[in-house]
Amino acid sequence: MPKLIIFDLDGTLAESKQPLTDEMAVLLSQLLAHTRVAVISGGALPQFLKQVVRQLPSDAHLSNLYLLPTSGAAFYEWKQDNWNKVYEERLSEKEAQTIEAAMRAAAAKTGLIDFSKPVWGERIEYRGGQVTLSALGQKAPMEEKKKWDPDHAKRHALQELLAALLPEFSVGIGGITSIDVTKRGVDKAYGVRKLCERFGISESEALYIGDELRAGGNDEAVYKTNVETKSVNGPADTKVFIESLLESI
Ligand SMILES: [Mg+2]
Repeated sequence: MPKLIIFDLDGTLAESKQPLTDEMAVLLSQLLAHTRVAVISGGALPQFLKQVVRQLPSDAHLSNLYLLPTSGAAFYEWKQDNWNKVYEERLSEKEAQTIEAAMRAAAAKTGLIDFSKPVWGERIEYRGGQVTLSALGQKAPMEEKKKWDPDHAKRHALQELLAALLPEFSVGIGGITSIDVTKRGVDKAYGVRKLCERFGISESEALYIGDELRAGGNDEAVYKTNVETKSVNGPADTKVFIESLLESI
């Protein structure tokens, strides 16, 4: 069993923005009984609590669970019955405004997002350590999201232009319709390194599981570290893999 298992959330542990299934929650709590488990994703902390923590069985060993919201820009651990912040690489209000202006400019220049048209919820969200641009809005239905950019071309075009407009920040693909901007150098690799430092383990003793490890995917950054990786096709695939890990104990 690896000393640390790091999971991507959307598309890996759960469907996009959906809670863990009961089955997945039980498997995760079985892992927590044996090793440290971290979850890293673009959402903010409340999203992690809703999708992951509240689904876990009441006896789950939370002191072995680590939450890294906003793509690793923040890190929380469970101590004294609370989620305590280990660090947060916050963007200032002024930085968030600069990023928002660039997002609007990139949307107009590429013609990919029309801000005058209504969508499902907010399109630009300031999450402390990260600003997220959601092309169809935060609350867009899954069927619509899946149709928007199946070949990644739209997100790549937006990412490329935003990276040029915001050289002092890191610009990455978030979910299937979103772009995430963080402080420069803050990405999933940053979060993975911070985790390994905190536990005093080498990166090669940790395992990262994600559905977007391919080039251009939102898990690709972890290849900058020496963690072991396991690529999955979705939560059903992840479930089979966790079962195999548990059988090996
Ligand atoms: Mg994913």
